[in-house]
Formats: sequence, structure tokens, C-alpha cells
Amino acid sequence: STDTLEADAKSGIQVYLRIRPSNHPSSYIERDDVDVNKICFQIPRSEGAIINNSRSSYGFKFNGILDEKAKQKDVFKTIGMPVIKNALAGYNSTIFAYGQTGSGKTFTITGGPERYEDRGIIPRTISQLFKTIDGSSSDGTTYTCYVSYLEIYNQSGYDLLSDGAVSSIQDIPKVTMLEDEYGNFHFKNLSVHPVASEKEALNLLFKGDTNRAVAVTDMNANSTRSHCIFTMILECRRAGTDTVVRSKLNIVDLAGSERVSRTSSEGQTLKEAQYINSSLFFLEMVIIALHEKKKKGNDVHIPYRNSMMTSVLRDSLGGNCKTVMIAAISPEAQHTDESISTCHFAQRVA
Ligand code: ADP
Ligand code: MG
Repeated sequence: STDTLEADAKSGIQVYLRIRPSNHPSSYIERDDVDVNKICFQIPRSEGAIINNSRSSYGFKFNGILDEKAKQKDVFKTIGMPVIKNALAGYNSTIFAYGQTGSGKTFTITGGPERYEDRGIIPRTISQLFKTIDGSSSDGTTYTCYVSYLEIYNQSGYDLLSDGAVSSIQDIPKVTMLEDEYGNFHFKNLSVHPVASEKEALNLLFKGDTNRAVAVTDMNANSTRSHCIFTMILECRRAGTDTVVRSKLNIVDLAGSERVSRTSSEGQTLKEAQYINSSLFFLEMVIIALHEKKKKGNDVHIPYRNSMMTSVLRDSLGGNCKTVMIAAISPEAQHTDESISTCHFAQRVA
């Protein structure tokens, strides 16, 4: 039997399932072992998915499903555009991609390296924002845009846009977090860059991704063991007024959610896995607490300060903010249990 969990209406969080196509070369999949025709789930309706493993059949509901055929431009239209509208209206937003390593998070957020049409949500968002900004100058509205790019690895923050050449992790300033007497967090050493054009913003994105690659190589780690948060801040001044409306848009590529077994890993890998598990868990706790707060009112405590990730996202989750989660899954049968686990996470936060 299929037990379908109802997702929507509990919160402002929208959850989309993205299933990457299976017919492409990927270093994470041993192609020879995989029967690509043996897809482990069916999608009976546009918004529901059923995943079967050897023991059971699980039903999940989403705000939408972006299946193997969904193009990057479809993903942007469904997820990016509403968030940009929200940012232009003065509200904060967060988009985050959750899923096991190899499920397409980075492809969805940043894009594929080869084809222009494979650009992901970040470059398309930059492009669309500047199109709107440039088009609005005639009505006297002016926008100022700022960008920052933070990597979180083992609970330490690294500024991916720091000045100067980065040839090792030591060259990247560690970002530290301070909380003031009003409970606001401040991030020391996280640079914020004004950007005047699409090109400037894209150059910073590229610089950050290059530094990310240097950092992970140097840490002897894998890019899938860290979280990356690309933040755009938009300040809007309307003609004839002094008020500035400020909004923030965070686009987050989370670390791989796969379970790392204690028996097969030790030392650094195990430590990384524990940090990742705890920061994904703290993110879940914050979102669940926000649901509670919505139901019960203001005396619900939101545990933001448990991790750097939730502290950074503090002003961009809950309330009037728009939060969109992309649950990324791999279609091959060998990944079924991780896919189910990703969908369960999605249902818990939805
Ligand atoms: P993750 O960041 O979740 O570890 P990646 O984004 O690196 O996963 O994706 C794994 C591989 O699959 C990469 O080679 C990527 O280019 C490819 N890939 C992921 N999603 C798609 C997609 N929708 N279309 C084509 N290739 C994809
Ligand atoms: Mg990745």
C-alpha cells in the first residue's frame, strides 16, 4: 500500500523534486553496474511521486516535479522567477538544494560547465535581476546590488570572494560570527561586493567557484562535503522618496546528504559526515520550529544559533520570506534508499 503524506499548506516552504537524467557520464555512477531502465519510481501525477524499494512503497507530494526532461530554463522559470519577484518586492528569500552527492544539486544551482543552456539558477537569477534593474531606470527607481559568497566546511566559514590570489586554503580568510545585544548576527571577514552589471556579478560567481575548487583540493576534501551560500542583496530607492527597501536572496548548494557509515569511515571523513549531518539536522529543526511558530505564535524558540548555516539564513527563512527547497534525486535503482531519505526530509520541512 502507498501511504501518501500531505505536504502543502503547513508553511511558506515550497518543495520541488528534481530528478536528474540517467543517461549521462558521471563519475559518481558506475555505469556498468546500473540497469538504467530499472527506474525505481513512478510519477502518477504532476505533483506526486511513488518510490519503491524492496520493502515498501512510499508516496510523496511536492509543489512540483521537475523530471529528467526538465531543462534548466524550466527550473529557473518555476523556482527562480517567483523568488526574483519576491526580492524585487522587498522580501528576503532562500533557495536551497538538498540531496545525496551526484544527484544534481550543483548542476541545478550553478549549472553545467559546458553548454550555455546548462546555466543554473544563480547565473540566470543574476541575468534576470539586471535585466529588471536596467529596465527600471526610466521610472526613477534605482537599485544597488551586492554579492557575497560563503563556503561552510566543518562549521567554519570561508569567504570565497576575498581579495588577493588564492592558492591554498590559508589564503582564504575564515569568517567568524558575532551576535550583538539585539540578537543580530554579524559576519566578520565575509566580504560584500557592490555589483553594477550582470558581467560583474558573473565574474564574482566565477571567482568564488574557482576559489571553492582550490579550497577543497587543499583541504583534501570533496566539494560535496561543504555548503555554499551565494547571497545577493538588493537595495531599492524609489523616485521622490528617501526610503530604501532592502532584500536578500540566498541560493544554497548544501553538502551531500548521504549517510556515511561509521564502520567504513574514520578520521576526517567521519568528522565531516558528523558536521554535515548536524548542520542539515539543525536546518531541519529551524524550519520545523518556524512551522510551530506560525501555528502557535511568538513564544516558539527558533534555534538559529546552533549552526553557522542557520545563523546566516536567519533573516531569510520564515515570516514573509519565500523559501524554496529543491530535493535532488538520482534515478538509478541503486540510489533508491537515499532518494527515499531525501524525499522524507522534504516532507518533514514542507
Ligand atoms: P551534486 O552537486 O548533487 O553532487 P552534480 O550537480 O555535480 O551533483 O551532478 C552530478 C553529475 O550529473 C554532473 O556531472 C552533472 O553535470 C550531471 N547532471 C546533474 N544534473 C543534470 C541534469 N539535469 N542534466 C544533465 N546532467 C546533469
Ligand atoms: Mg555538488
